[in-house]
Amino acid sequence: MSMAKKVILIGHFGVGKSSLVRQFVHQQLSEEYITTIGVKIDKKEIQVNGSTIKLLIWDIAGDDSQQKVPQSYRLGAHGALYVLDLSRPSTYENLNEELIALNELIPNIPISVLASKQDLVPNEQVEKILSELPVSAKPTSAKSGENVEEAFHQLAAQML
Ligand code: GDP
Repeated sequence: MSMAKKVILIGHFGVGKSSLVRQFVHQQLSEEYITTIGVKIDKKEIQVNGSTIKLLIWDIAGDDSQQKVPQSYRLGAHGALYVLDLSRPSTYENLNEELIALNELIPNIPISVLASKQDLVPNEQVEKILSELPVSAKPTSAKSGENVEEAFHQLAAQML
C-alpha cells in the first residue's frame, strides 16, 4: 500500500532547511545554493515498516519561524521538521517558546527537532548544546549527510 505524507520544514532563515532536503532527496550539498522565493516541494518515496510512503516535503523560503508560517503551508501537514543551527545560538535560544507556539499552530502532528550543521561545531560542544536544550534534538549535517536519512525515516515512522 502506498500513501502520501506531507512534511513541512520549519526554522529560522539560513539554518539549513533547504540543504537538508537537498541532501535527503538528491544526496548532495550545493555550496552555491541560494534560497529561492516561495515554497519548494520535493517528493521522495521511502519504505517504512514494509509500507511505501511518498513524502511530500514542503520547504518555505525565508524566515518561517513560527509566527510567520502561513496557514496554507501548515494545512494538511502530517509531520514537521523543526531545524535549528548548532553554529548560531540565536536559532535555538528561544526553542521552548517557539515549539510551544508551533504546537498550537500544528497540533497533533509529530514534530522532530534537528540540530543542523553538526560538522561546523566540535563534538563536545554539540553534546553540551543538546544537553541544555528543552527537548531532544537529533544532530544532523547536510554537508556530511550525518543523520539526514535517519531523521526523515524516524519522522515517517512517527507519522504512520
Ligand atoms: P535555509 O534558509 O534554512 O533553507 O538554509 P539553507 O539550506 O539555504 O542553508 C544556509 C547556508 O548554510 C548555505 O550556505 C548552506 O550551504 C549552509 N549549510 C546548510 N547546511 C549545512 C551543513 O550541514 N553544514 C555546513 N557546513 N553548511 C551548511
